[in-house]
Amino acid sequence: MYRIPFDRVNWTTSAFLIGTALIAVVGLPIYLIHYGVDWFQLGMLGFFLTATMISITVGYHRLFSHLSFKAKWPVRLFTLVFGACAFENSCLDWASDHRRHHKHVDHDGDPYDISKGFMWAHIGWLMFKLNPEPPMDNVNDLRKDKLVMFQHRYVHWIGFFVGLVLPSVLGYCWNLWQGQSPWVGALGGFLIAGVARIVIAQHCTFFINSLCHTIGRQPYSTKHSARDSAVMAFLTFGEGYHNYHHEFQHDYRNGVKAWQWDPSKWTIWLLSKLGLVEGLRRVPDSKILLAEMREARMRAEKQLEKLRQQGPDVAQRAEVAIKELAERLAANYHELEQQVADRVQVSREGLRNLQQETRSVMREIRRISSLATS
Ligand SMILES: [Zn+2]
Ligand SMILES: [Zn+2]
Repeated sequence: MYRIPFDRVNWTTSAFLIGTALIAVVGLPIYLIHYGVDWFQLGMLGFFLTATMISITVGYHRLFSHLSFKAKWPVRLFTLVFGACAFENSCLDWASDHRRHHKHVDHDGDPYDISKGFMWAHIGWLMFKLNPEPPMDNVNDLRKDKLVMFQHRYVHWIGFFVGLVLPSVLGYCWNLWQGQSPWVGALGGFLIAGVARIVIAQHCTFFINSLCHTIGRQPYSTKHSARDSAVMAFLTFGEGYHNYHHEFQHDYRNGVKAWQWDPSKWTIWLLSKLGLVEGLRRVPDSKILLAEMREARMRAEKQLEKLRQQGPDVAQRAEVAIKELAERLAANYHELEQQVADRVQVSREGLRNLQQETRSVMREIRRISSLATS
């Protein structure tokens, strides 16, 4: 039985999270049955949801928490204003929590430590304050930014006026112009682009802390629980490639491969072409491949160990074959490592060949071990 520590409940946050969720799942359907929805309301939902999510992923996360690029004031202002509309606290608070998450991932100092359970990482850490708040001594660089400090002071007012009052006023004006009841339009704006949008944006962000540490692959590192998942990337504006992100947190890309769904990366790239951001940080391809090869080698060693435990006669031939493949991986790995250390420029084709070889070796290892163990 779970025992709820009522004396440690963060009542304001809990009331907000539960209240908005109730309005979205009970109040909104009643409104829709009575009044329906028009394209203007849907357009507002699309705009406010995209603006809020992009402000969290591009602004709060990649810009302010990880300094993965530099941005001019219009980008900082936009992401701080619409970031406030997510009602996920001020950027300063958010970045402080998030930097601690990376530093202590899966351990006690991690505010949304997945080892304490899925619900804790998703929402529990916000609803309960089990430990005293640690000092925010890891965001002193952000304190020098006047816009960040202004947002820190007035975050709830900004969120209230831009995130709730503005869609209501726009809904009011639109209906008035269309010769329909303005108050129905205002209520629609409040419920759809206001409250429902907050609930969707919040849970999509919370998924990064819960599901992105639970489902998916770990191609770059198994030292932490973060995972890569295309489905999660779709729900989180590209943040679902979380295994890569935890391994290379200062890279402005989370979906590092060209085909991976990462609208936040595309937005940053586009802004750089417009001259609004600069200094985009990228991890060199050779380093990324080294991480992948290191993981592949570890998986090969684990397979080998599993086969060895089955006894000498069961899988001896398979063991010899896998050992040879694992040695090939190791040789490739050391060769590339040496080239990186010597600062030799490795060609794109060379990297691609190594990557393909790593993948085909891993496929071969999986095939041999499944044959041997079946
Ligand atoms: Zn994480
Ligand atoms: Zn991060």
